[in-house]
Amino acid sequence: MLKDSFGRVHDYLRISLTDVCNFRCRYCMPDEDTQFMPAAQLMQADEIELIAARFVQMGVKKIRLTGGEPLVRKDAEDIIMRLSKYPVELTITTNGTAIKTAIPVLKKAGIQSINISLDSLNKENFFLITKRPLFEKVWNNIQLLLDEGFHVKVNTVVMRGVNDHEILDFIEWTKTQPVHVRFIEFMPFDGNRWTDKKVFSYREILAVAESGYSFLRMQDAINETAKKYKPYNHQGSFAIISTMSAPFCSNCNRMRLTADGKMKNCLFSKGEVDILSALRNGEDIVPLIKQCVTDKAAALGGQFEGDYEKIDAAKIKNRSMINIGG
Ligand code: SAM
Ligand code: SF4
Repeated sequence: MLKDSFGRVHDYLRISLTDVCNFRCRYCMPDEDTQFMPAAQLMQADEIELIAARFVQMGVKKIRLTGGEPLVRKDAEDIIMRLSKYPVELTITTNGTAIKTAIPVLKKAGIQSINISLDSLNKENFFLITKRPLFEKVWNNIQLLLDEGFHVKVNTVVMRGVNDHEILDFIEWTKTQPVHVRFIEFMPFDGNRWTDKKVFSYREILAVAESGYSFLRMQDAINETAKKYKPYNHQGSFAIISTMSAPFCSNCNRMRLTADGKMKNCLFSKGEVDILSALRNGEDIVPLIKQCVTDKAAALGGQFEGDYEKIDAAKIKNRSMINIGG
């Protein structure tokens, strides 16, 4: 069992398959001509399986594949099928562009719940955020997933003046379709021009939601990061992920592996442990993984705390989100 010095059991691993993406989301990527990692630096399919197997032996029960865009990786299907053999809940976060061709393998791998990012219901605004004209493709693929019976969570990063005016439209969508929208507070990462002014906070999101709908607060699952709400008579629900204004670190169970095989014990951790090089050198990676968990800070990677309005983003040492794996 992987327990940190605060007694938190870590049983959820997020693996980034690549730092490459076919989108250029303004809150995630530094700029258009970002340099991606050389292929030889990435964990290969067999290495991902070997590392994941060690984590499973140490108690990991859930694995999420992410990136960059995990489904742009050519051997994504091979990796999904390799990991599907393990006794874990396997899932994926994707921008949805490649879902149509991936559905058969997702089903074969027993994946039932999928997170899709969609920050706008408006074609023009979608383009302004992602810099790619692919709204219809993502929308149609979400409809396809719903038709195929998948549990669909929609990740929406809310930014002030960018898409906060669409909150009620997203909730309206949950009236007629069983989609579960998760409004995420904008977080600071390397190169994403974060300022506290752009954060549309949990309280503000809730106030907008209350202006249009009546809803019930749902019971939180253990280790839940999202505060969930069920509007009356809606097929779907919405939730708020309040990393900035009300962090939920005290019951965190998450660990991350970047596409180049570095372990991070927190999304905001400064430090990384090079698991892939150790594996390639024939070393036992178990003590490294244990130490990384032991070293986890109490909250937010030990990089900031308290009032998010006082954060100086320039002082935070981290990679860009696309480079970490969300
Ligand atoms: N490409 C896939 C996608 O977009 O779903 C997976 C990787 S993406 C980095 C994972 C999640 O991180 C997405 O839901 C995205 O919206 C979220 N994300 C990226 N940058 C963020 C930021 N600065 N603040 C909050 N969420 C962010
Ligand atoms: Fe790509 Fe996802 Fe980042 Fe958008 S949020 S640039 S889709 S990795």
